[in-house]
Amino acid sequence: MRGNVLLRYSLPLLIVLPIGFLFLYPQLIQCIRVSQSANFRPLTGMPTVYVHQAATSQQHKQLRQHVRTAQLRIKRFWGAQRGGAILIYCPQQADYEQYCAGGEGAGCSLGMPWGDSYLVLGPDGNNADVIAHELCHDELFTRLGWWRVKRQIPQWFNEGLALMVDYRFSNPTIWEHPDSSSRNRSEWPETRSMHIRPRPMLKLSELETTHDFFGNNPTHTMLAYQTAADEVARWLAKVGRAGVPALSNAIANGNDFSNVYHRLEREKKSRL
Ligand SMILES: [Zn+2]
Repeated sequence: MRGNVLLRYSLPLLIVLPIGFLFLYPQLIQCIRVSQSANFRPLTGMPTVYVHQAATSQQHKQLRQHVRTAQLRIKRFWGAQRGGAILIYCPQQADYEQYCAGGEGAGCSLGMPWGDSYLVLGPDGNNADVIAHELCHDELFTRLGWWRVKRQIPQWFNEGLALMVDYRFSNPTIWEHPDSSSRNRSEWPETRSMHIRPRPMLKLSELETTHDFFGNNPTHTMLAYQTAADEVARWLAKVGRAGVPALSNAIANGNDFSNVYHRLEREKKSRL
């Protein structure tokens, strides 16, 4: 009887849920089918990077360099790169909108409940900072899985962490010296002036969900990014780079995000 109920209700649900998920997000179907699309081909030497045929040879060359720089940055930040996302580069906005809902920003990351992930780069996405940012989202997703990221990780931490490898918004000296591809430190007016800027007015408790973070106006989203970057930079300066994989390992082992986040900070303080 119990078996029959399972067969009658659970099995159809297992089939209907992924189909419903894809139906709700049609751009996911485009991402899943990118390897079969006549408009895309893999970047030479990088079989998981797909480039739209509209890209010039110069854009191909730049993309290869930027992906390498971003991957090295992720390896230094996390200790190793475990994420295996498919990267999709659309140099034209119309194509970008087909692969990333709304087509906003320079790039976006899409993680599937079953573990596959796609990073889509738009016309402004052929950039080491944008790629490192998206790869950082993918790294957290790969290490924790879709469900744990949704249930455990507040959006301010997910974004704040990605901003630590995105030097458009943060100073690399928070956790490393600038790498060879980075600009000179004196060229970061936004980070040099961070200490004299008024403190963001948002509370972390108001930035828990994706909707909290992105569901308002653009000014709110920028303040949300700033708040997230300030908080994670503060935490990272205390716990050090090793705190990042330590936090993710502890959550992957079933611990609560908030407990581990504060515990790592307390442990570091007591050792000083
Ligand atoms: Zn992000």
